[in-house]
Amino acid sequence: MKAIVIGGGIIGGSVAWRLARDGATVTVFERARLGMEASWAAAGLIGPQVEAQEPGVFFDLCMAGKNAFDAIVDRLARESGVDPEYDQHGALYVAFDDAGIERLKSRARWQREAGARVDELAPDEALKLAPALSPSVRFALYMPTNRRTENRKLTMAYIRAAEAAGAAFREGARVAEIVANSGRAAGVRFDDGSVHEADVIVNAAGSWAGEIRGLEADKIRFYPVRGQIICFEAPAGALGPSLFSPEGILVPRRDGRLIAGSIFEDAGFNKSVTLAGIATITSAVAAMVPGLRGVAFREAWAGLRPASDDLMPVIGESPSVRGAFYAAGHFRSGILLSALTGELIADLVAGRNPSIDLAPFSPARFQNGSIKRVPIDMKHV
Ligand SMILES: Cc1cc2nc3c(=O)[nH]c(=O)nc-3n(C[C@H](O)[C@H](O)[C@H](O)COP(=O)(O)OP(=O)(O)OC[C@H]3O[C@@H](n4cnc5c(N)ncnc54)[C@H](O)[C@@H]3O)c2cc1C
Repeated sequence: MKAIVIGGGIIGGSVAWRLARDGATVTVFERARLGMEASWAAAGLIGPQVEAQEPGVFFDLCMAGKNAFDAIVDRLARESGVDPEYDQHGALYVAFDDAGIERLKSRARWQREAGARVDELAPDEALKLAPALSPSVRFALYMPTNRRTENRKLTMAYIRAAEAAGAAFREGARVAEIVANSGRAAGVRFDDGSVHEADVIVNAAGSWAGEIRGLEADKIRFYPVRGQIICFEAPAGALGPSLFSPEGILVPRRDGRLIAGSIFEDAGFNKSVTLAGIATITSAVAAMVPGLRGVAFREAWAGLRPASDDLMPVIGESPSVRGAFYAAGHFRSGILLSALTGELIADLVAGRNPSIDLAPFSPARFQNGSIKRVPIDMKHV
C-alpha cells in the first residue's frame, strides 16, 4: 500500500510512523520545514486532566491519549534514538480565591468520578511540592500522573522513528489538492501541477488542513487559534510540577528553561508575540511564583493551534473521498493525542477495530451543517 501524509508536524510524524510499521510505503509532504509549526510552539503537556474542562467524550479521549502515549514512549525513544524527555513530575492547579477553590473542587469531583487520580491540597501541602509557589495560593489540585515532554524532541522522535521504519519525508513540498478517481483517493497534486499517486492519503496539515482542495464536500472548516509563549531561564530544577492557574501555565524543562503561556486568540495566521500577550502571561506567572520576577528572559514565540468548529479533533475517513483520512483539529491537545492519533489512523487504514468509539470525532459529523463554531474564551479554556 502507498500512503501519503500531508504535513510534517507531530500528528503527521506519528501517523507516518504507525503506517510505516504496518508495512505501508509512506511519503510525508511538508510545505516548509518539519516540525516547525504548532508542534514546535507547544508547552509539551501530556495532561488529560488539565486539557479537558468537563466530563464526557473529550475527557475520555484525552485519558486514552495519555494511556496510548505511556504505551509507546519507550519504544519510540528506542526506535528513533531521540529522548523526548518524558518527565515524571505531575501538574499542580492552584486557586487564589473562593471562586477558584470552588471551580477546582468541582473539577476534582468529576475527575474522580471519571476514574482519574487527583489530590486536593491545602497551601502547606502544595508548598511542599513546589516551594517557590506564592503564599497567596489558598488551595491546589495535584494530578500526579499528568506529565510533560519536550515537544520539539518528541516531534523529531516520531519523524526519526518513521524514517527508521522506511517512511520518506519531503520538505518544501506544499500539497495543493487531493486527487480522486470515482470517489476514491488517487494521489495529491502540487502547485506546479505534478501528481504523486497513492492509495491512502492522510490530511495532517494542522491549521492549514482546510486549505487543501478536494475535500470540500465534507464541509469541515479548520482555523488557527494563536497561543503565545514566553521562555525564561532558571537554574535547572528550580520548579518541580507544571503549574496552572485560570490565567496561565508554567512548564519547566529539564535544562532549566521555563515555558510560560499561553492564552487563546483569534488572530488568523498571524504568529506575532504581542504586548498584551506578554502582559497577560507575565502577570499570571508572577502571581503563581512571585520569586521568579528576577529570572532572565530568553525568548518568546507564538504558534497556531489547529481548531475545528466544535474544538474537537477530526479523526477518520472522509465521507466524500474513500481512502482520504483526516488527522487534524487537535487544537490545544495535539501533543497529548499524538500517539493515539497515529494508532487510530493506522487501525482504520488496516481495517482493524479502533480502540475507542470514534463517532464523536468523525469527519462525517460536519456534513449536515449543524455544527456551529464554538466561541473561545480568549484568555483561557
Ligand atoms: C502555544 C501553544 C501551546 C500548546 N501546548 C500544548 C500542550 O501543552 N499539550 C498539547 O497536547 N498540545 C499543546 N498545543 C497544541 C499542539 O501544539 C497542537 O495540537 C499540535 O502541535 C498539532 O499538531 P499538527 O501536526 O496537527 O500541526 P502542526 O504542528 O501545525 O503541523 C502541521 C504541518 O502541516 C504543514 N502543512 C500545512 N499545509 C500543508 C500543505 N498544504 N502541504 C504540506 N504541508 C502542509 C505545516 O507546515 C506544518 O508543519 C499547544 C499549541 C500552542 C500553539
